[in-house]
Amino acid sequence: MAMKTVLRNATVFRFDGYRHVPVKTDVYFDSHIQGFSESHPSDSGYIEHNMRGRIIGPGFIDTHCHGGGSGLNSTEGRYNPATEMIEGGADEEVLAGILRAHAKHGTTTMFLSSLAAPEDRIRRFIGAAEKLYGKPGSERGGAEFGGIDCEGTFLCPSDDGAYVGCLDPKYMHPASVGRFKGIFGDAEKMVKKVGIGFDWDSYSPESDPVGLAEYLVERGIMPCTGHSGASMKQVMCAIKAAGSMVFIHYGNGPNKSNLKPGFEGTMEAIPFAAGMDKEVYNIYAEHILDGVHVSPSFSAFAYGLFGPDRLIGVTDNIGISGDYDIKRIKLGAVTAQIGQHDKRALWKEGCEGKTLVGSRATCNDLFRYAMGLLTSHMDPKNIYAMYTCEKFGPFPRDEALSSCFKMLCSNPAKAYGLSDRGEISAGKRADLIALGSDNNVERVWVGGNLI
Ligand SMILES: [Zn+2]
Repeated sequence: MAMKTVLRNATVFRFDGYRHVPVKTDVYFDSHIQGFSESHPSDSGYIEHNMRGRIIGPGFIDTHCHGGGSGLNSTEGRYNPATEMIEGGADEEVLAGILRAHAKHGTTTMFLSSLAAPEDRIRRFIGAAEKLYGKPGSERGGAEFGGIDCEGTFLCPSDDGAYVGCLDPKYMHPASVGRFKGIFGDAEKMVKKVGIGFDWDSYSPESDPVGLAEYLVERGIMPCTGHSGASMKQVMCAIKAAGSMVFIHYGNGPNKSNLKPGFEGTMEAIPFAAGMDKEVYNIYAEHILDGVHVSPSFSAFAYGLFGPDRLIGVTDNIGISGDYDIKRIKLGAVTAQIGQHDKRALWKEGCEGKTLVGSRATCNDLFRYAMGLLTSHMDPKNIYAMYTCEKFGPFPRDEALSSCFKMLCSNPAKAYGLSDRGEISAGKRADLIALGSDNNVERVWVGGNLI
């Protein structure tokens, strides 16, 4: 049970239906937000915190994350220093450890992502996830577990431009409803997003990737596509049929994009899809806003293309957050190392600056990076934000903060139907963060409980 709490002297970013707007007010909550200064006359029974003008925002929602902490990965298990492997597969404690590691940095809801892996690994992950799903995250001192994000399993290991990163093509299955049901069965209710290689159409008669996308959308699950060798036509046909799509330009390698007539790929589908009628089509893009996986120029471009209401920041953290002394690690089919020069990401061993294997980011890192991206156009030497700036005008600090709360809070909530969170309004879950100077997360409440 969350205690009745009031945060006094805060600058609360309340959602007005369009923007997160700063208001100097007190905010009252138990597990849910009860009201603000003007609407809440009685103070009796409330624990008070004086926020001394700090910014209070909604908690972050991370919809693509494999792991975190001291080498915890939702598919592969935990880091073993003796073997320098993440191994053993997931269990309840591995998943809870990831949720705890990220909650400290302001994530209050997260999906856990699977990798292309042997079926028994995926089943172990599903079994562990079932133990956490629907249970309050704050009981374990962590973020709320929002569900499963299935990456890799239904990508197509074609040699035609697909880039699979550290995903092992051996464990990719033809994208079809039958295969999906075969792996997830009753656990389908936990699944929120499924990566689909629409190029399966050209490789296996057993597959029906568009049929799978339609099946998912009927059940409230988002289909997504990216690091794929699919043609533009295949992707656009899928959007037409399913009506919803998330473009996951995670940044781990090129999508097929060779710009030759007749060979237009997934990348070329993105601007077309971004321009489609938002009343009819439900199109979002997810970027790893860690400053490494996706170049600042491309993130700024995507922001301009999709607009502030359709871009989502994700961490894609692969298993290490914080200052753990892990230099080298085996992950699936590759050996990875933390960059010697740029410690923000993991690279394939010996390939720093060339081949990315995963991120180490937390949502707080993304928030701070995105703030820099949206406000630094004030510097005339920064060409990255030109496109964004041209289209959306200059970003004063409060406007940039609103956009960052959109990308990391209200947009993912909207995209995935999490209607009880993602914004600060009366009646929503009390998932809150307090930001200190430099936009560092200093305090976190999950369902009204201080973490
Ligand atoms: Zn990933």
